[in-house]
Amino acid sequence: MTLWDSFLEMVSDKNNLTDYKTYYSAIVKWTKKHIKFFTYDNSLDFLLNLDINEYIIENPGICLETEYERLKKEHIKNNDSGLVSMMIIYILHEMVTIKSGFECPRCSGDTAFYIAEFDNSNERKCVLMCEECNWCLNENSSHIKKLIPASMNELWELQI
Ligand SMILES: [Zn+2]
Repeated sequence: MTLWDSFLEMVSDKNNLTDYKTYYSAIVKWTKKHIKFFTYDNSLDFLLNLDINEYIIENPGICLETEYERLKKEHIKNNDSGLVSMMIIYILHEMVTIKSGFECPRCSGDTAFYIAEFDNSNERKCVLMCEECNWCLNENSSHIKKLIPASMNELWELQI
């Protein structure tokens, strides 16, 4: 069984998709169990360890009823763990990123709120980033050291 097939098997179990928190937790559990197959990735690490009660949004763009059918159509060639990791990051991101409602001026994609930390200061700042092309709308991204999805609480604290 390939890594992707094993992931699909987890998604095919309806008990893992009763709601978004359950689905998110099931993915985290599966990924941690198979972590030795993946190379370390900052954003995956963040997504696997965040507090789901704080981060999971109310209406992610994922339909739980058709999720298995959707993922079954993805062909992951050569048991490529990099691609599996990308898929997982994409799915988890979808459940925790708060969409801004602004269109990306470059590609018309959706933009979402992220918290950025910078090379040259300890400042934490809210930035809008495109989910499609990763373009940062309100900041020069070359100085960004770390970028993580913003939670509702953080947006509240930063008074966005
Ligand atoms: Zn874009």
